[in-house]
Order: sequence, then C-alpha cells, then structure tokens
Amino acid sequence: MDLTVISTYRCNSRCQMCYIWKNPTDQKEEVSVETLAKLPGGFDNLNVSGGEPTLRRDLADIIDVLYPKARILEISSNGLHPEKLVPIIKKYPKIKVRFSVEGDEATNNAIRGEKDGYATKMAGMRALQEAGGEDLGFAFVIQDENVDQLVRVYEMARQMGVELSTSTLHNAWQFYKNDNYFYDRKTVARKVEGLITSQLSSKQPKNWFRAYLNLGLIEKILGHERLITCTAGSDFAFIDPWSDVWSCNVRSDLLMGNLARQSWADIMASPEAQIARQKVHACKQNCWMVTTARTAMRSNIIPQLPKMGPLMWVLQNKLKVSMGGHIAFDRYIDYSHVEPTPHVQRTSFLGQKAKAPLVRGRNTPETRYPLKSFENN
Ligand code: SF4
Repeated sequence: MDLTVISTYRCNSRCQMCYIWKNPTDQKEEVSVETLAKLPGGFDNLNVSGGEPTLRRDLADIIDVLYPKARILEISSNGLHPEKLVPIIKKYPKIKVRFSVEGDEATNNAIRGEKDGYATKMAGMRALQEAGGEDLGFAFVIQDENVDQLVRVYEMARQMGVELSTSTLHNAWQFYKNDNYFYDRKTVARKVEGLITSQLSSKQPKNWFRAYLNLGLIEKILGHERLITCTAGSDFAFIDPWSDVWSCNVRSDLLMGNLARQSWADIMASPEAQIARQKVHACKQNCWMVTTARTAMRSNIIPQLPKMGPLMWVLQNKLKVSMGGHIAFDRYIDYSHVEPTPHVQRTSFLGQKAKAPLVRGRNTPETRYPLKSFENN
C-alpha cells in the first residue's frame, strides 16, 4: 500500500493552482511524530508532503520514524529550503526527493509565486546531488501556462541526471481548489504527446512506464474516463495534517478514521473505510494523480510488475519508437469527444502581498474543507 502523509498546510510558495498556502494549519495541531510512529511497517511508497514539509521543525524526526516503514520514502518539497534536506539525504541517501518546478525561471516563479524560486531549486538540487542523493528529481504540474516547456524541462532534468514526474491541474480537498480547469484541453493534451515520445525514446524502462502515466494524463486533461479503475482506500491512503485518514486526496466524503485516536488496523477495518471503498468503486471522477495512477497500474498478483494492459501498450510503442515510427495517439485517445470547460482565469501571486491568516478552531472536516465538493470532469 502507498501512503501520503500531508504533514502541514503551511507553505512558503504562493501557487496559482493550489491554495494550501491560503489555509495554513496551526503547527500545534499538526500530526505528531508519536502519531506517525503508530503506523505499521511494510508500506511501498510513503510520501511526506504538504504544504511544505521542510517547514516542519521536526522533519528529521518524522523521517527517522517513517524511513524503516516503507520500501521507498519520498519527500515532496517546493525546494525553497534545500539546506534542511541536505543532512537528511546525507543520513538516508536512498530517500526519494522531488522539487516542484513548473518551467523555466520566469514561468516557474510566476506560477508558483516564488521570488528567486527557480534559482534556489536548481542550486538545492545540486546540493542534494553532492550530499549523495540517489533518487532525486523534479515534479511538474502540467497546465496551459507551461505545457510548451514540458519536454525542455524533461531534457533539463535528464542532463542534470535527475528524474521528472508529472501531474496536471486537479480539483481536490488537498489543494483547496475546485475551479482548476484547462483553458484549451486539446492543445495542452497534444503537447503532452511530445513528452510521451521522448520518454519512450529513453533507455530507462521507468521512463517507458511514465509514458503510460502521461497517456493517462492526456485522458484526464481531455475529461475522459480513467485508463484504469481507481483503488483508493485499498492500495493507497492519505493522512491530513489533523491526523485524519482519507481514501483519496480528492473527494471530501471518503474519510476512514483518525490515526491520533485509532490504530491503523482499526481504521483499515472500520465500517467507515468499508463504506469509503464502496464509494471509490462507483467513483466517476476522472482524476489521475500520480499516487492513484501508479498503484492502479500495478499487477494484482505481483505488485512489483505492471498490469498486462500498460505492459502491452509500453512494449508495442517502445518498439515502434525504437524503429523510428510514430505513436498513433488517435488510436488510443478520442480527440473528437472533448467537452468544453468553464473559463476560470488563474492569477499569479508573484510579487503580491498575499496574506494567509491562520484560522483556529477548525474542529471538523466540514470546517477544514469548506468548499465541500471537488469535481474532476
Ligand atoms: S477516482 Fe475517485 S476515489 Fe479514486 S482518487 Fe479519484 S476521486 Fe478519489
């Protein structure tokens, strides 16, 4: 099972597609090291995310507790405080670290509202390489404003010797956003095809399977059904900063329990978890977050291997690209059927004095996630 620990909603970025920074948590209420110590071992990918996890003063203690509990421990960071990660990487070089980067310097800083953000991330990535990091990379949220730069960022990451993971605009309780829509779905989707072709040209098998993940992102961008059924609550879960355990990070009606008050085993066996899994089974959202997609791609029999469908797609198209052919994207994707989206303008917060007041006394999920409905269609 994969698990994401959303360690805080405090964040020092000011992103235009994620409003966590407008909804900071009180650090006194954030999931404690003692609560996280209650988690069992045996997780596959355990991601410590946020908000910005390096803002947790006890991040090193969190990592000490979680590192032995997972095959892969990941830290998702905005990269603005690399100095906090250097000692962690020196101690645990195998930890996977991903820094968010949304394009070239001007584009990244505008989308993420980060003065000097790009330069800090690049210097920080080199510092983590010098510290001995073995699984480093960038994470890119595909949107109309940066999709032209997607292949260039992939090549830049390769030249630096690090990875690139991708996601797209989503509406989700985790992002406090329910109005993230593409301005021009088809144009964005067509440009992702270039990344898929580049990834299949690579010599690294993990890039070939990332190409399939990006095929799923095209379906998400176009508003089509998921390529593979979701397994939220069974194969992956999320813990929010108040220690609430959720099946997924999109729907705010899939709460399964609370790790501060219950044991992990009790939460997983609870009636709430069973009801949540039934809802997941019938879910019609077309989300395709990395966690939800990666776990869905795994074989039910041998989880280290992919399902037959993704495997066959990868083998066929890797062969085609290797022989100089082109992927027939229109064979896999119905570009003729694309519903228009509402036009909701996104605004850069770069240079704006955007205040994020701390709201205390949010004692229930309803008060913590007041937008309630988070639709991806
Ligand atoms: S498909 Fe539904 S249940 Fe699965 S992650 Fe998306 S919103 Fe959650």
